[in-house]
Amino acid sequence: MAKAGGCCFQIGYFLYTRTRIGYWYHQKEIKDARLKLNGEDHSKTDVTEFNNLSILPIPMLLDNYAYLIQDKQTNHSVLVDPGDPDKVLSVLENMNVVPDAILITHKHWDHSGGNVKLKTAFPTIRIYGGAMDHIPCVTHAVADGDVIKFGELTFTVIYTPGHTVGHIVYLLDGSHFDAPASLFSGDHLFLSGCGRMFEGTPTVMLRSLDKVSNLKENTLVWPGHEYAEDNLEFACNIEAENENAQEKLDWTKQKRIVKDCTCPSTIREEKSYNPFLRTGEKSVLQSIGMVTSSETTEITDTIRASALAEVRERKDQFKYKL
Ligand SMILES: [Zn+2]
Repeated sequence: MAKAGGCCFQIGYFLYTRTRIGYWYHQKEIKDARLKLNGEDHSKTDVTEFNNLSILPIPMLLDNYAYLIQDKQTNHSVLVDPGDPDKVLSVLENMNVVPDAILITHKHWDHSGGNVKLKTAFPTIRIYGGAMDHIPCVTHAVADGDVIKFGELTFTVIYTPGHTVGHIVYLLDGSHFDAPASLFSGDHLFLSGCGRMFEGTPTVMLRSLDKVSNLKENTLVWPGHEYAEDNLEFACNIEAENENAQEKLDWTKQKRIVKDCTCPSTIREEKSYNPFLRTGEKSVLQSIGMVTSSETTEITDTIRASALAEVRERKDQFKYKL
């Protein structure tokens, strides 16, 4: 694969994100994923319920998750990142649900590629997305701090550039349901990982990661992909002594043997093992050779941004070794 910053990559990336070629490529990816998985889902998922709030991860493509979030008392519901529209439509039909809205985290087709077909199926549906990304069929462009509400489902938009220039995440307030908050983190934050920096510098990404890291520790994290096992293998490689990473990896391996979904995790858990949230930890900086054990250097944001770039680079290399 071409290197992320290379000329061939940039041309391919432009065609993927800004032209119809990207949409056709996405259609091929949906077909290829169905063939590869013999029509099965990549993961088994269950509904998580807190009183009248229900959250269902919908597996699609090779490792994506869309989400269906319902307020069962007021009968309002919302989809997050429904990249494969046929998969979502069959779930909605089985459950007899007509969604109010679609929340899109970013423009990549595996997240936004269902918008056209779902808008045709539900003409009055509202589609939310970041004002800075080029997302198809958006009816409501949103920005940092915007609050959007459907029945008692209240979401706050958090602007998290880095993976794309307009990436946003959605924080669902759980208080009405006596539930913790839920973060729908798209390709910004994964279980033990973060998105590749296609359109942002390490400094920009660091700021975006700090925003989610500062959320309440019991916030549930619902990411856009099932990457847990690979990511935790990498976390254990970076911090061999980190017991939290090893424990979560052991747990994840058990779940993945039977294809169980690994989400949600929590912000507290992520801060304990996710190397991309731990660039201020000496153990991570030592592991990547940025400080020695005897050094007492103050860990500035500049150092953390360099560490983030290095950890990201190592993760990209690590992936290809597996
Ligand atoms: Zn993406």
